Amino acid sequence: MDIVVIGSLNMDMVVRSGRAPEAGETVIGDSFVLSAGGKGANQAVAAARLGSTVRLVGKVGADAFGSELLEIIKQEGIDSEYLSVSGSRSTGVASIVLEESGENRIIVVPGANMELTADDIQLLEPVITGAKLLVMQLEMDLHMTEQAVGIAHASGIPVILNPAPAQRLSDELLSHVTYLTPNETEAGILSGVQVDNLDSAREAAAVLLRKGVQNVIMTLGAQGALIVNSQGQIHVPGFPVKAVVDTVAAGDSFNGALAQQLTAGRSLEEAVTFANAVGALAVGKAGAIPSLPTLAEVEQFLE
Ligand code: ADP
Repeated sequence: MDIVVIGSLNMDMVVRSGRAPEAGETVIGDSFVLSAGGKGANQAVAAARLGSTVRLVGKVGADAFGSELLEIIKQEGIDSEYLSVSGSRSTGVASIVLEESGENRIIVVPGANMELTADDIQLLEPVITGAKLLVMQLEMDLHMTEQAVGIAHASGIPVILNPAPAQRLSDELLSHVTYLTPNETEAGILSGVQVDNLDSAREAAAVLLRKGVQNVIMTLGAQGALIVNSQGQIHVPGFPVKAVVDTVAAGDSFNGALAQQLTAGRSLEEAVTFANAVGALAVGKAGAIPSLPTLAEVEQFLE
């Protein structure tokens, strides 16, 4: 197995409506779309479409959304041996209302995603140590995440931690991370340095390196990404995109691609350049999983 992703699977339920209802009110909306996601699932699919062998470890509920997510993961050729079904909690869902004004209101119910806990760490240990690379995000139990990253670190397995959704993390966890991939907002929250340009991005990355992160790879939207480590700093510019359709899963596509490239033996700068191309392709297409490109699509884009 090249890559093990321990991460979330969610179903996004997206309602478009002129406006959101007030308390006690009912409004008639315009459209409804169900779309499979969750950062763990997105990143696993991104890496698998690029050619990695991937195992996804996580939990869904014993409901229709859970069955559908499991089916999607299997169709992508991802190993699902360690995907289990919760006896008591629902599949993770995000209930999303998009208003005409562009405003959105989102309630995430993590459900079964939170059921993988530090008690499962004995189960996870051989899974982690048997992979070339561990990929994690922050949509699961934080204590379990800390333990899993700690096991990888102790066994010399490199770790990509995508610190999303944003939250503060202990210095101990950060010191076990090989590649930390925050966007600008997440870097700001983790470092305490507000990031709004390249200089502040470098400053925030320097704080994170002092906390023990080996490599900070900060994603900068259209500007690409910034690599900062003990050897120095490289800004790897993004690829121009003529028409941005939606930025859903841009970060997830970037992380999956980074994982695939690193396990394929590419240098960090090569890997980030390729991941920028994958991110650019993902923002040019609608949706999360449907927007993730195949290796052939990326190669054609880079020709
Ligand atoms: P997130 O989605 O986590 O906020 P970013 O917005 O930084 O992350 O996007 C992740 C990556 O996707 C960027 O590093 C870049 O490679 C690519 N990307 C995102 N937006 C654009 C864009 N408008 N044009 C080109 N590439 C983009």
